[in-house]
Amino acid sequence: MHKNPRLSSIINHLLKQPAHKASIQIAVGELTEFNEEQFRQQWNGLVAQTPLAQTKLNIRIVRAEQQCMVCFLKYHPQQKETACPQCGSVGAKILAGEEFYLESI
Ligand SMILES: [Zn+2]
Repeated sequence: MHKNPRLSSIINHLLKQPAHKASIQIAVGELTEFNEEQFRQQWNGLVAQTPLAQTKLNIRIVRAEQQCMVCFLKYHPQQKETACPQCGSVGAKILAGEEFYLESI
C-alpha cells in the first residue's frame, strides 16, 4: 500500500493540540499521487486508539493549474498532460496541484 509520509506528521501535529476538533480538512493537490480510499484506510489505521479516532476526515482536492513558459497561458492540465493547449510546448510551470496540507484546525 502506498503510504503518505506527510499524513503521519499531520496526525502527530493534531495529537499535540490541546483540544480535538470534530472534523479536520486536508487539502490535496490534483497532481499528487493520491488514492482517497487508501488514504482513508491509512488515516483510520493511524488514528485508531488515539483521541482522533472519532474525528471526521474531510478531503478537498485542489484543482491543478499550470503556466506555459513560452506563451504564458495559464491552463488546467488534462489527465496530468503538461503540453500547452495553445502553443503545444512542454515544460510548464506548476502553479497549483501539488499541495498536501492541513487546511483547518
Ligand atoms: Zn504555450
